[in-house]
Amino acid sequence: MKILVINCGSSSLKYQLIDMDGEKVIAKGLVERIGIEGSRIKHETIGKEKKVIEEPLKDHNDALKLVMNSIVDPEFGAIKSLDEIGAVGHRVVHGGEDFAQSVVIDDNVMEAINKNVEVAPLHNPPNIMGIEACKSLLPNVKQVAVFDTAFHQTMPPINYLYAIPYKFYEKYKIRRYGFHGTSHMYITNRTAEILGKDVNEINLITCHLGNGSSITAVKNGKSYDTSMGFTPLDGLAMGTRSGIIDPAIVPYLMEKEHLSAEQVNNILNKESGVLGISGVSSDFRDIEDACSEGNERSKLALDIFENNVRKIIGAYMTEFKSLDEIDAIVFTAGLGENSKETRANIINGLSAFGLKIDDEANNMRGEERIISSPESKIKVLSIPTNEELMIARDTLRLVK
Ligand code: AMP
Repeated sequence: MKILVINCGSSSLKYQLIDMDGEKVIAKGLVERIGIEGSRIKHETIGKEKKVIEEPLKDHNDALKLVMNSIVDPEFGAIKSLDEIGAVGHRVVHGGEDFAQSVVIDDNVMEAINKNVEVAPLHNPPNIMGIEACKSLLPNVKQVAVFDTAFHQTMPPINYLYAIPYKFYEKYKIRRYGFHGTSHMYITNRTAEILGKDVNEINLITCHLGNGSSITAVKNGKSYDTSMGFTPLDGLAMGTRSGIIDPAIVPYLMEKEHLSAEQVNNILNKESGVLGISGVSSDFRDIEDACSEGNERSKLALDIFENNVRKIIGAYMTEFKSLDEIDAIVFTAGLGENSKETRANIINGLSAFGLKIDDEANNMRGEERIISSPESKIKVLSIPTNEELMIARDTLRLVK
């Protein structure tokens, strides 16, 4: 069966068409600037030349029409007819407490996703637009929702409750949800395969370090604690997000700078993190470059980020009875998969726990391998994530 995987952002849309016989990507692409001047699609059918088409796209429906046309284009497309698409898997950011697993989308599911717009006002609306557009373009094809939050629904209350009046959990469901769940789950499954362990017995600390970053403590194959919280703003300092700060900073800034709650939220989400500190860029490659040219604040931004990561890894070690229980620490996502310096700085800074990187094994990008030295107390791995494959697998399982 061929499965179309859709990941809709507010103005962008990523897609992959995967042939599940052999789990091979047959086409993929990105639509950018949806609803903004300069909309375009970058489409690639594997084995054919890449195609860029610029045309006005007023909404996600227009964007998905262009995706479908590109997929079946006689010259650069991948399939002859849309009838070949067996199912569509959608990434949905927030499932709240309603979804601990992926589901086939029906009216009740749509209602629940809509209800969770309240806790994910930036993320769920574009996901909903993508689902609605696919439903109208492929009315006879089953649609599946795969939630970023689902994997973390196994966290115990000691890790998901914030120490604020309990009534706010009851009234507004304010709690830690965690995100990047599809990635942490993929990494958990893949690490179990690599280490030859039953996934239900594996204990890990998984580090998804990209533009958005989160760390998860995985106990017996299940999420036990994670660094993102009520929203994806919590936890580590990220590209543009502050991560954890003293909450009193919010009213202080509002008062001093005469800002609204929305404006402060915007600063913490879009102007903070390594961008805020360095003043150079939110992109870690730019910051690494600036750093090597002697830019002090870029160095500080990287140091703060790495220190954040080390402190959360250290905290999550306390969730296990002993270090011997932890099978591995795993790096993934843009930075985790690609930056040998970041991985080495993080791991070598945890020498108090007996961790040690193997410089030769670590000297690579985007490969799947063990990067710790044999004498390291805990194994360290780097594994490229594959959220799209995870979504496609769940979709196949549910529609079969
Ligand atoms: P993601 O959100 O997973 O796509 O990750 C994007 C982030 O990974 C960006 O900040 C990139 O700069 C960073 N990244 C990608 N490749 C590298 C690399 N070779 N070295 C350092 N950072 C990288």
